[in-house]
Amino acid sequence: MNTPQEPAADGAAPDDASGAAAAGAAAPDPVQLQRLWTLVDKLDACFYVKDLEGRYLFANQALGAVFGTDPARIVGQRDDSFVDLAASGIGATDTQALSTGEKVATDEVVCMMDGTCRTFRSVKLPLFDAERRVVGLCGISTDITEQRRAVDELIERNALLNTILANVDAAIYLKDAQGRYLYANRPVLALYDRELGDLIGRTDRELMPPESAALVAEYDADVFAGEGGAVREETIVGADGNKHHFRSRKVKLQLPGQPTCLIGFSTEITELRGLRTRLEQERITDSLTGLANRVMFESALEEQLVMATLGGARLAVVIIDLDQFKYINNNFGQAVGDQLIQLVGQRLQQSNVVLGSLARLSGDEFAFTLPLAETIEEVAHQVEQIRAFLAQPYPVLRQPLHLTFSAGVALSRGSLHGAAELLGRAEAAMYSAKDNGRDQYRFYSPELGSTVARRVELERDLRAAVGTTVGTAEFALHYQPKMRRDGSIAGFEALIRWNRPGVGLVAPDNFIPLAEQLGLLLHLGRWVIEQACRQIAAWRDAGLGTIPVAVNLSTSQLTSAALPDYVFDLMREHRIEPGCLEMELTESMMMSDPDLAIAILHRLRSGGVALSIDDFGTGFSSMSYLRQLPVNYLKLDRSFVQNCAVDPKDADLCAGIMALAHKLDMHVVAEGVETAEQHRTLADCDCDLFQGFLFSRPMPAGAATEFLRGMH
Ligand code: C2E
Ligand code: MG
Ligand code: MG
Repeated sequence: MNTPQEPAADGAAPDDASGAAAAGAAAPDPVQLQRLWTLVDKLDACFYVKDLEGRYLFANQALGAVFGTDPARIVGQRDDSFVDLAASGIGATDTQALSTGEKVATDEVVCMMDGTCRTFRSVKLPLFDAERRVVGLCGISTDITEQRRAVDELIERNALLNTILANVDAAIYLKDAQGRYLYANRPVLALYDRELGDLIGRTDRELMPPESAALVAEYDADVFAGEGGAVREETIVGADGNKHHFRSRKVKLQLPGQPTCLIGFSTEITELRGLRTRLEQERITDSLTGLANRVMFESALEEQLVMATLGGARLAVVIIDLDQFKYINNNFGQAVGDQLIQLVGQRLQQSNVVLGSLARLSGDEFAFTLPLAETIEEVAHQVEQIRAFLAQPYPVLRQPLHLTFSAGVALSRGSLHGAAELLGRAEAAMYSAKDNGRDQYRFYSPELGSTVARRVELERDLRAAVGTTVGTAEFALHYQPKMRRDGSIAGFEALIRWNRPGVGLVAPDNFIPLAEQLGLLLHLGRWVIEQACRQIAAWRDAGLGTIPVAVNLSTSQLTSAALPDYVFDLMREHRIEPGCLEMELTESMMMSDPDLAIAILHRLRSGGVALSIDDFGTGFSSMSYLRQLPVNYLKLDRSFVQNCAVDPKDADLCAGIMALAHKLDMHVVAEGVETAEQHRTLADCDCDLFQGFLFSRPMPAGAATEFLRGMH
């Protein structure tokens, strides 16, 4: 048995690269040999010698440590005494070295009986006898388990990097100075529909049309010239033949020992660009009709104005607006309204008259220019042609709809005014056409301009006044008494007045419709109701009794479902008795949403509010409709009252209305009674209450209080 002290005589020196060389060496000096063996025994690496059967002839301490035993105990044993051979790879490498007679260098995993495994970097050398027959092997195995782990980690980390590169949405690539791809991640490969191996070494010129490639190369060249780094947008034609837009950042990259290359990061923005284009499109077009919108029209008009001025021509701008479109929307629904707007847009496009630019400005308002009309007469003629074409019936409902249109025309005068101003003028002319009874056109004139200016000022003042309604003195209620047949007072009607700064008292007809248009009336209307409640309470608290006060409602209040609760709160707060607060409404106010209006009226009535139909006889009153309304009073319009004293037929009509109203359990109030004659005639017709200048004009609260006192 061999021991470290008695090494096999034919053992080769472990660092000898070739067993054959060792076999031919002269016999070593025994002292030197001893030293050598001591050294080998103490090696960090395992050193061992095995015979042909795999039995250990020698094992150093390091191997003993691996096998967990004294090296002397290893000698004479085979690996299967220490190692789980099935799980380890030693047998195979041993056999290879022994059978081939060649050196085998390999990494092998060795698993112990307890299941722990270690990795060794082994070199195994066959040993020969004098006849060059293989008699065994000598091996040296270094434990590289820890090193291996570090490498594995590194690989793992690289794998992580690779995974990141492959999975980021951005295209990442490396190119050399000749534009050849050195690396590309998955998005790049997908774009060109190539495998990595197929892409490496190619240039963009081989991958896409020359023009696109040239643009890309230009950016790349800038990067190499030191001007890169900035983000640029690029267009790449992919393998699918489509243009793909990218936002790219490319930088020069100098890897140690490598020629300078370029690394690029490109994010696809094709969808984003599409969205951007769409948004821009939406910014300038009207989605309902597909026509240009105001923004687009104004900029086109600006250009046309420049051209017209250069050519010494005039340009006519026309705004055309559907008459009473609101009514159509309210009565037939918005879907019908939208359909109509689309049809009008189509008709304008199909018209025989050549239109320069055409746009839908808003709601039911369209604008166009008339580039071929040179004289005012021609402009007028063309506008009339268009209006007539638009006025043909529209097949949107079972019964074709007949519409009328109002138009306003403004003419450019040299380069004096811009598009916006010209449009404003056309708009002012169009409003003037509406004010004059609709279904007509108007040219802009300077007087119109001052009307517009006045309206703008009124609007501004009114907004300011309503904005500060509560507690300011700009608005006040005046009170006009309603008298019974016996001359006693039945109550007051509260009528609003606006003390407009710098102007004085303004009558409601001059600002109520505008306030309604501006959406201010809901707010103002609440103030009126509150003020009326305060006055009722004040008269009661002053011992003047329970005096009913009527307020006038507006359309917006009759479409506000919150109105009844608000009114009831105020009535509770001021302890208003049922029937003491009255509300007046006209039939036309109910038109925009009759069902809601009727529901609101029922709630008000059941909460103790008395209701009157104001200006009765001026609307298209239908008695059957009237029956559905929970109304206490009909207020006969002044126009009837004026005529009843002079025209017996009107007197008969009044008498008929009274009789009918009484049948429906309603009382009748005659409005605008100015003469004793009228008073008498109406009294003869059985009229219940009278209101008018004959008894008193509307008066401020103080005067109304005096009036009340005078009645006591
Ligand atoms: P209305 O409700 O029909 O009010 C009657 C109008 O006739 C009042 O005009 C009144 O001053 C006037 N008047 C009364 N007696 C006579 C008369 O004998 N002869 C003549 N020629 N006129 C007479 P006013 O105060 O200018 O109000 C006009 C309209 O403004 C009111 O008509 C009403 O519809 C509306 N209005 C007034 N105050 C308010 C309010 O607070 N809210 C709302 N929404 N509308 C109001
Ligand atoms: Mg009234
Ligand atoms: Mg009235």
